[in-house]
Amino acid sequence: MICPYCRHDETKVIDSRTSAEFAIRRRRECLSCNRRFTTYEKIEELPIKVIKKDGSRVQFNREKIREGLEKACYKRPVSEDQIEALVSSVEAEVYENFEREVPSQTIGEHVMNRLRKLDQVAFVRFASVYREFKDVNDFVEELGSMLKQRTRK
Ligand SMILES: [Zn+2]
Repeated sequence: MICPYCRHDETKVIDSRTSAEFAIRRRRECLSCNRRFTTYEKIEELPIKVIKKDGSRVQFNREKIREGLEKACYKRPVSEDQIEALVSSVEAEVYENFEREVPSQTIGEHVMNRLRKLDQVAFVRFASVYREFKDVNDFVEELGSMLKQRTRK
């Protein structure tokens, strides 16, 4: 982010919060002239990376979280709106607290904390797969095949 006063390209974030939908309001301070300014950054334009358990990085993807939740909530009394609200609150939490990279474990914990309050069965499904794989990006497919096996029995 470039300082609007002196054009210096290093700034630090002082405060972050989700303002309107899909936008993050950030207070920044220039590391050169120390002046402060506010930016509004669109979520889809912010390239946050997820740090996986093995140390590799992948692009943060809210759809991955939604997919995982939909599988965990299969045939449970949880609406699309509730899933969407959960994904949005996890997304907001990530963008408010992290600027460039977020550990995948942090995302998993946020999801589990919210899912626990929403539906106990979905939480247990999610948690059992999550604890085994420890990675939001890796367990989505595993969760799907695990649930398929269960319904076949
Ligand atoms: Zn400056």
